[in-house]
Amino acid sequence: MFVLLRHLAAIRRTAALERGEPRSVAIRHVDAGSCNGCEHELGAATNPYYDLQRFGLSMTASPRHADVLLVTGPVTTRMRDALLVAYNAMPEPRLVAALGDCALGCGVLGDPSQMLGTLDAILPVAIRIPGCPPTPAEIARHLLEGLDQARRLNTPPAA
Ligand code: SF4
Repeated sequence: MFVLLRHLAAIRRTAALERGEPRSVAIRHVDAGSCNGCEHELGAATNPYYDLQRFGLSMTASPRHADVLLVTGPVTTRMRDALLVAYNAMPEPRLVAALGDCALGCGVLGDPSQMLGTLDAILPVAIRIPGCPPTPAEIARHLLEGLDQARRLNTPPAA
C-alpha cells in the first residue's frame, strides 16, 4: 500500500512542480460528533510511521490557515454552528473532506434526533474517505487522490 502511496506522491510532486504549484496543503480537522475512532486513525496517519507530512499534508490549528476542512463523525445539532464558523473562516480556495462512514452518512452513532444528517447536507464535500474507521493508509490515499482531482478540475486547459 505504501509503495502505491509513494508512487502517487511522486506523481503529484512532479506534476505540481511542472505546473509551478505549491505542494503543501494545510488541513483543519473538526470532530462533528464522532466516536473518536476516526480521530485515532487520523492521529496515527500523522505519526512518524505513516508520516502524512511527507506528502506535503499537515494539520493546522486554525481554519484561517487551512486549505482543507476535514470533518469526522455525523454532524450533530450542537456542532453545526462550530462547523460553519470554521468553514467560513477559511480562505478561498477551500475544500471539504468527509472522513469516515459517519460523515458520509452511515448513521451508526447516536440518537437520530440529534443528528443533522450527512455532511453533504451542510457543506460541499469534495473528498470522501470511506471506512469505519479508515486506516491511516486509506486516509492518505484518498486525500492525495482527492487533492489531485480538485487540482485537475481547477486547472484551465493549456492554450
Ligand atoms: S465512521 Fe466509525 S470510527 Fe468513524 S466516527 Fe463513525 S463509528 Fe466512529
